[in-house]
Amino acid sequence: MREGTAPEPPILVSACLLGVACNHRGLGNRAEAVVELGRHRQLLPVCPEVAGGLPTPRPAAEIQPDGAVRTATAHDVSGAYRRGAAVAVEVAEAMGITEAVLKARSPSCGCHEVYDGTFTRAAVPGEGVTARALREAGVSVRSEEDLAAELGRASGDHDAPGLP
Ligand code: SF4
Repeated sequence: MREGTAPEPPILVSACLLGVACNHRGLGNRAEAVVELGRHRQLLPVCPEVAGGLPTPRPAAEIQPDGAVRTATAHDVSGAYRRGAAVAVEVAEAMGITEAVLKARSPSCGCHEVYDGTFTRAAVPGEGVTARALREAGVSVRSEEDLAAELGRASGDHDAPGLP
């Protein structure tokens, strides 16, 4: 920071991308590109699904064609997803955050694609509940894959890539 300039706001990141064991399987999705970003910028990790009140581990859920988020046994978790998105937006607004790096294809965090609701790992264009809420709040969202591409190298996930 140059003298007399305002400090840069932190970048909001999906907590699992820093290795926090908060995904639905109780694991992290550490992405080296995001860890590297944290060496230069302050990061603010958030897991919207945990913030929304869901346990870890938890059943996988996907966005269904009607827009609801349900597990494979048809349990509707849309309310928790919406609560988590609201927390992420509240944090972003409180901290003046303008950028986020979010886990690809997650029903919460995916910002280009999401799984199609069939639990077959088939992805379709779309965005997760939190990614959408942040974008609508004016936050610029990108995935860890976008970030890795920008850094010109593979993302380096230690976990299975693409499994939020
Ligand atoms: Fe939490 Fe988002 Fe990571 Fe899922 S993708 S574990 S909601 S931070």
